[in-house]
Amino acid sequence: MNNNCTPQSRHIRFPPKTSQPYDLVILGAGCAGLSLAYNLSADPDYKGRVLLVDRKVQYDRDRSWCFFSPDDATLVPESLISHRWPIAIVRKGDESLRLSLGSKPYNLVDASGFYQHCFERLKEDLRFSIALGHSISEEDVLNEGGKIVIRLDGQSYSTHQVVDSRTDRLIAQTSAQLWQVFIGYEIETDMPVFNSDEATLMDFIEDQTHPVSFMYELPTSRTKALLEYTVFSSTCIAPESLEPLLEKIISERLAGKAFRINRTEKGVIPMGLADQSQTTNQRWLKAGLISGAARPSTGYAFLRIQRWARSCSEKLRSQAEIGLAHKDPIITSTMDRIFLNVLAMTPHHASSLFFDLFKNTPTPSLIRFLNDEGRYLDHILVILSLPKLPFIRRLF
Ligand SMILES: Cc1cc2nc3c(=O)[nH]c(=O)nc-3n(C[C@H](O)[C@H](O)[C@H](O)COP(=O)(O)OP(=O)(O)OC[C@H]3O[C@@H](n4cnc5c(N)ncnc54)[C@H](O)[C@@H]3O)c2cc1C
Repeated sequence: MNNNCTPQSRHIRFPPKTSQPYDLVILGAGCAGLSLAYNLSADPDYKGRVLLVDRKVQYDRDRSWCFFSPDDATLVPESLISHRWPIAIVRKGDESLRLSLGSKPYNLVDASGFYQHCFERLKEDLRFSIALGHSISEEDVLNEGGKIVIRLDGQSYSTHQVVDSRTDRLIAQTSAQLWQVFIGYEIETDMPVFNSDEATLMDFIEDQTHPVSFMYELPTSRTKALLEYTVFSSTCIAPESLEPLLEKIISERLAGKAFRINRTEKGVIPMGLADQSQTTNQRWLKAGLISGAARPSTGYAFLRIQRWARSCSEKLRSQAEIGLAHKDPIITSTMDRIFLNVLAMTPHHASSLFFDLFKNTPTPSLIRFLNDEGRYLDHILVILSLPKLPFIRRLF
């Protein structure tokens, strides 16, 4: 697949005049911004005009979104799924679990395919204007007589509704219980070394500096895999600082076999945002990671963003009140908060906690729980699978 999936023109239907207000301005055309725009575009009853703005000028294959198949198969178009793993592996020292995922395999969506899919639709839709290469800061936004005015290239564009998914202030302006930090190489070998049926979700590594650290391995053929080094950290460290560890582990794994690095991907994901109250301003809604899209205990966000995009687009169409972007049921949010507390306070127990979770919870229940589809019984089974003492301590 083409790595560069930028629309041909930097400005698509970029309007020279400022007189007519937009019904909606979406700041940040990444996963959340594009998902919302796509859902609105797919809705023939949505009559609004939308301006979509991003600082990027070029879209690349910058991330691999993975998730277990959701109950609602229409949430992610089948054509976007580039690989499926029927088996998940979890490893701790010499112990290993091989989980058969049944009707809920682990799926891969390449960001490049996703960006292309969204832009192809939006380019054809006259209700949408797209402006790339514009970094919007607070100085570019004014409040004028009840209207929000955004300044781009010296021109003013007004609107009554902004959805803001800009991530540039994610680290500076959010405070998280833990940060998930990772760096990965997509590598290719000459000799067949991987099993493309098995995704390794967690292979715990002994690392003195980062007590919660593991490899995440996604082979897409016998000679190609994305290998990622991930840590959970109380401070938001630079992913690049993990590169020497990643390189060392890859060399050990491949035991001298030759390999090429095709591309790198890296990121930081907040786990458990301290405050989401900023999302309650009806005219300026936060979306994506800055609004708590990442599930606190896991960092999974892609499916949650797809669900939000669908429900937000329905509310925008019917002009209903939108409310908090990501509000989990009380049982889930309480369990996630306690789990994160235990991880933060006793990180040396993390490998055992996760291993027990995967070992002792029936796999379908665990996947429903991780996928935000957990029933009451699934929550109970997850609780029963974990050692009680550290959790009771954290509860009080
Ligand atoms: C490498 C990587 C892999 C991931 N893998 C998974 C996964 O497997 N499963 C999963 O569930 N989640 C995953 N995530 C987490 C999450 O799904 C993604 O981070 C997702 O892209 C978040 O969507 P978003 O819209 O919040 O942010 P983004 O997709 O990053 O979009 C934000 C957009 O805002 C733009 N922007 C930022 N600042 C400005 C500004 N000042 N002005 C204008 N535009 C601006 C950026 O250019 C960007 O396009 C991953 C994250 C990363 C980084």
